Amino acid sequence: MTINKQESKSIESFPLEVASQKEAEKSDLQSIKKGNLRTYSSQKDNAREFTSLIKKRSTRSIVSSMLGCVHCGLCASSCHYSQTHPNDPTMTPAYKADQIRRIFKRHMDFTGRLIPWWVHAKSIANDEDLNRLKNIVFGTCSACKRCTFNCPMGVDTAALIRFARGILTELGIVPEGVFAVSKDQWETGNQMAVSEEDFRETLEWMEEELQDELGTDKIHIPVDVKGCDLMYCINPREVKFDPRSIADAAKIFFLAGESWTLPSFGWDQTNFGLFSGDDQLGASVAKNVYEAAKKLSAKRIVISECGHGYRSTRWEGYNWANYEQELPTESIIHTLKRYIEDNKIVIDPSKNCDPITFHDSCNLVRSGDLIEEPRWLLQQVCTDFREMYPNRQDNYCCTGGSGLLSMVEYKPLRMASAKIKADQLKATGAKQVCTICHNCVDGLTDVIDHYKLDLKVVQMLELVSSALVV
Ligand code: SF4
Ligand code: SF4
Repeated sequence: MTINKQESKSIESFPLEVASQKEAEKSDLQSIKKGNLRTYSSQKDNAREFTSLIKKRSTRSIVSSMLGCVHCGLCASSCHYSQTHPNDPTMTPAYKADQIRRIFKRHMDFTGRLIPWWVHAKSIANDEDLNRLKNIVFGTCSACKRCTFNCPMGVDTAALIRFARGILTELGIVPEGVFAVSKDQWETGNQMAVSEEDFRETLEWMEEELQDELGTDKIHIPVDVKGCDLMYCINPREVKFDPRSIADAAKIFFLAGESWTLPSFGWDQTNFGLFSGDDQLGASVAKNVYEAAKKLSAKRIVISECGHGYRSTRWEGYNWANYEQELPTESIIHTLKRYIEDNKIVIDPSKNCDPITFHDSCNLVRSGDLIEEPRWLLQQVCTDFREMYPNRQDNYCCTGGSGLLSMVEYKPLRMASAKIKADQLKATGAKQVCTICHNCVDGLTDVIDHYKLDLKVVQMLELVSSALVV
């Protein structure tokens, strides 16, 4: 399935939907009252505001990506959108970045201000232009950074996309899904609006299951215990749709003799601010985690399987929140590796005999430096691990990155661009694909369903748990 130029053009004219925004305004939300969650107003001069924010927020690295592109076209062959739409120039990374670049040049670059036609500089004229830009930056890029890694000039197109997304979020010119998830995370501290009651009930349910399974009431899923060696943070998807992964982690912690706890608030390590470009949301969510660890006097923060959660909490959150702390922060993948190396848990790989391949999550390999550890683990817990090609930093996105799973209107284009991922998966001949990211579980499941592949998605905790010798 491919989308032709005509169809991808129509994506640029998808309308701005604001029903959720209107409803939120009526609900008297704290996040709106405090000015954290922004809504769209047709009465404002949004074009002028956009231009002013571009000027105000351009950092040195953004400016270098605005000015560095020489239009060599090399990045076109690295993007899954342009590779699946070879006749459509609007799918190339350079085209997408140029839609932001031209505004920057018109207002901040000497040549662009003097002779705009020479350098294709152009202002944003009205809300229609902004809506078109919204569809490009949210709908035609998964911010996978594959083009960034392949640009000889060091242009970071994914960073430009996030930069533009952040300004549009400030103006409320966003897809409905982006608004809805941002609202939930601002209002409740987690992306899926899980209440504390549901959170605690799910943990109690998993604890009972584990006690039955292991035949002991000594196994617990502790909450808010002070002075533990490890504070564990999870993805709300685990509470809402996949509590098995919380149970798997608890079982492994128990067998390893770990002193651990979950916090009752600040347990969501995911961060929609990374996707929407809203640094304020990013700072607030990351701070929830850091403050929870401080309050509980934990010695280490451990992040469950999540690409963007790891990137946000481990690498970006400190900068967004201007937060200083020395506390070590790691992925559960590091923790599992340490347990096996230190013989804290015993593993029998013959319990995972199906051929398994591994999907590198963009936020972990290209932005998180978590590359060899999952491979080492797979070698320990499975008998038939096989790489997919290309892999590591060259791997292709599951196509669900950067919050695209919440933007249903762009799904047909996303599925067309997933042809590359589907071919990659199929070529391995594997029966299972392991990913260490909950977001990628959903992205890969969409690809598998759409292209009718005979594959099951599994996660590392599941594999380690099933290989345990208890
Ligand atoms: S590879 Fe870099 S310099 Fe070349 S077109 Fe792409 S962004 Fe521009
Ligand atoms: S970041 Fe990824 S999806 Fe976006 S333009 Fe670059 S290669 Fe394409």
